[in-house]
Amino acid sequence: MQLVNISKVLSHLNEKQIEDLIVKYYSGDKVNDLINNYNINVTPHSFYKTLPNIKFKNKICKYCKSQIIIETRVRRINDDSLEKLKCQKCNHLLTGSCDCKNCRLERKKEDRLNRKRLLSKYSKNVKPISYKTLTLYECVFLSVYLSRYYDYKARITSPLFYQSDFYNTNIGILLEEAERMIFQLFNKNILLFYSCYFTGSYPELLKRDEIDISYMFEMRFSPNFILNSNFNTPSKYEKNNIVKKITNLNYNMLKHHSIKDFAELWQHFSLVELKSCLLNELKKFYLDCEFTIEKKGNEILKDMLRVFSTAQCYSLIFASVDIAFTKYFKNILSNEEAAFSVIYFLEEEYKRAILNKLNIPHYPIDDKRIRNEINKFFFNNILKSNSLDFIMIPNETNIKLLLENIKK
Ligand SMILES: [Zn+2]
Ligand SMILES: [Zn+2]
Repeated sequence: MQLVNISKVLSHLNEKQIEDLIVKYYSGDKVNDLINNYNINVTPHSFYKTLPNIKFKNKICKYCKSQIIIETRVRRINDDSLEKLKCQKCNHLLTGSCDCKNCRLERKKEDRLNRKRLLSKYSKNVKPISYKTLTLYECVFLSVYLSRYYDYKARITSPLFYQSDFYNTNIGILLEEAERMIFQLFNKNILLFYSCYFTGSYPELLKRDEIDISYMFEMRFSPNFILNSNFNTPSKYEKNNIVKKITNLNYNMLKHHSIKDFAELWQHFSLVELKSCLLNELKKFYLDCEFTIEKKGNEILKDMLRVFSTAQCYSLIFASVDIAFTKYFKNILSNEEAAFSVIYFLEEEYKRAILNKLNIPHYPIDDKRIRNEINKFFFNNILKSNSLDFIMIPNETNIKLLLENIKK
């Protein structure tokens, strides 16, 4: 044991005695006894301050090469405190995970190398992809996504994580839907891996064979597509121009997609809208809403859209929520039971309407209508449907009418 900074109060003791004193202190002897037995002139309270620090001969800091000194202030040097041996000069911890300046720099260096490895694995020599190979939904999604997240200066996207609260992204669709779409575009090499927001992700990702969907919300991407058949990699300037064109997408750039594609996307967006409407209504009555629309509810809503417009479906949803929660207010059903029976009443209402050929009113277009940015972009900018999409049944016949309107 090598002792450093021996206090004057201990000057009447030799080194062996001081070592004994330290050992006894750490073995748990009472401080009062130690003070009396060794005749030390301190209060029990400040006793620990008189103990010298111990220098470890064989432990040396890898950064500044200085010997490690442990402060004797902590009562017990057990395995745990030995784990926390710290360099007095640079604060580097000898064992365990350390967050000192030197270690941080080293990790950064390591992260840079790892990022390079990932770049060469996923993004090196990937030829630009033709925009024509994208599905209609991908085109529409990409347009809204890039208009929100693309940085023209850096020519990459900022992470989804940046602008999202927990449930909704800035584009107003559920985070999982946005992640799914980005993952799809990533797998098609339309969006190339560029970097991660959390540097700690690089070593994690290198351990994996494939990047999975859970990393999509923190990644920055480089768009990798071209509009014409020229397969050369676009210059920086061309790349920005391509993105600009896509964010100003119009029907002309999409007319190679079939009527069926358009009708299906319309149905998809209407379904998403109905789900948001239903969840929103349930939230009003059933506040701790952990409610998700299961497969059955999904199927019913889909069926409804085959015969009714989105606006009529709204009316049916409000009616069935009303039935369920009237039963709650009359104490027939609990709050939770009411919420979970809404789908059942919805099915009943819908079947009754068909059976009796009821004339379901179109719910008026007002601010109760819930639309996300992508859905709005599709109807307002591309179809220029002027809310007609709300009061028409989303099918191929009607999409033809809407598209005829644009061509005029
Ligand atoms: Zn050091
Ligand atoms: Zn360190």
